[in-house]
Amino acid sequence: MLSTLLPEFKIERDDSRCIRCKVCVRQCGFKTHRYDEEDDTICSSEENCVGCQRCAVMCPTNALTIKPHDWGYRPNANWSKDHFRELHRQAESGGVILTGSGNDKPYRIYWDHIVLNASQVTNPSIDPLREPMELRTYLGRKPEKVEYDPVNKKVYADMPPQVMIEVPIIFSALSYGAISYNAWKALLMAAKEAGTLCNTGEGGWPVELREYSNRVIAQCASGRFGVDLDYLNSASIVEIKIGQGAKPGIGGHLPGEKVSSDVSLTRMIPEGTDALSPAPQHDIYSIEDLSMLIYALKEATHYEKPISVKIAAVHNAAAIASGMVRAGADIIAIDGIRGGTGAAPKIIRDNVGIPVELALASVDKRLREEGIRNQASILVAGGFRNSGDIIKAIALGADAVNIKTAALVAMGCTICQKCYTGICNWGICTQDPYLSKRLNPEIAKRRLVNMIRGWSLEIKEMLGGMGINAIESLRGNRHHLRGVGLEQWELDVLGIKGAGM
Ligand code: SF4
Ligand code: SF4
Repeated sequence: MLSTLLPEFKIERDDSRCIRCKVCVRQCGFKTHRYDEEDDTICSSEENCVGCQRCAVMCPTNALTIKPHDWGYRPNANWSKDHFRELHRQAESGGVILTGSGNDKPYRIYWDHIVLNASQVTNPSIDPLREPMELRTYLGRKPEKVEYDPVNKKVYADMPPQVMIEVPIIFSALSYGAISYNAWKALLMAAKEAGTLCNTGEGGWPVELREYSNRVIAQCASGRFGVDLDYLNSASIVEIKIGQGAKPGIGGHLPGEKVSSDVSLTRMIPEGTDALSPAPQHDIYSIEDLSMLIYALKEATHYEKPISVKIAAVHNAAAIASGMVRAGADIIAIDGIRGGTGAAPKIIRDNVGIPVELALASVDKRLREEGIRNQASILVAGGFRNSGDIIKAIALGADAVNIKTAALVAMGCTICQKCYTGICNWGICTQDPYLSKRLNPEIAKRRLVNMIRGWSLEIKEMLGGMGINAIESLRGNRHHLRGVGLEQWELDVLGIKGAGM
């Protein structure tokens, strides 16, 4: 069938700069460029280009420019380029359109409509360069009461298991299999160096990397890939995955091409077979069922680890979260509509779920109203781009944030959204040995640690500007937030005043 798809990207090569080194030919896993020996020229097949910019970055003479194609279709307010393209693709394939990365639709990003306060005359600001500033965060259920014995000068509390992180930023669930071994190792090493945690996602945890055991959240998803006693007991936190922001209500699918021998060993499935995670956890159909699994995992881990439950941000997230806490969850993780993915049906990613800002505000409010907020920590994910987004989330009620796309971008990802193909020219979302060795775990780790360090410094500056010297004092303190350009109903859900009030 003749394809009616026009190329998405335009490739411009400045011939006066091109030295025919063929770097671009080797760098593109999508076979966009080829060298014509007879004519000593480099030709490009624009229809293969995904706009990942790898060739342009690696070209030694900066001869390449990759930019979105400016198609000559008649402008149509109803039919965007994306609508055309997707329907043409579907007419040719008859299948579901897959995509990778997070939702790129122009839903309101509330972080960009919330501003922070700063001290001026009273309650003076604090200079973080001269005074201590605390970002340390403890995850897990808080003790019911703390008693002080003035005679012996001792504090007594029945402490539930908690995990300390140096910064309120965690590497979110990125499964080995969806991302390469080198990318996964880089995340683990960075988590260790930055004093934070890395989530296994649903892909298991290679045995040789269990040395990072005090830095890992081990996920127990519907496919139960790689889950055994050693896996659970090696982790700091165990997480039950109910839903994911990029694909609420549906399961996961790692194509057989990405199930290499190492991935198959880690996931405990045959090599080359599709790894299918069912949409529901087949043993959970009620809050009581969830409670049974939570306590089964607590039992299996000797009541020594907090148990987290992860859901996608959907309508009624607050009521669902309340049920999760009452079922025994020590941490609730909420993944919003802009949460990333290795592969998801595009129609689901772009249309299902709600922004995490609204879910977070309503969950924190509900748990406070019910007097159970101290029984669980709240982790949020779904489109965090910088330290400003993070500090606003904490003021809105989060204990810490999970970052996924930002971590990939720090490692080199250009959000080309082709993770589901198994071809990632940056060596991140691939199991192809030729491509994955492009990512040096040491360099990737350094970039991740630098990102966390830079964000931590910025968060300290912003905290100091508010006259606060510990992140704990900002948590859920919405008085420090104001809305700009928001409707009254949005301010009400967020629980903040409009700017100027
Ligand atoms: S990488 Fe740049 S210089 Fe080398 S062949 Fe490609 S366009 Fe020419
Ligand atoms: S990880 Fe790779 S394939 Fe996925 S969006 Fe980033 S650059 Fe593209």
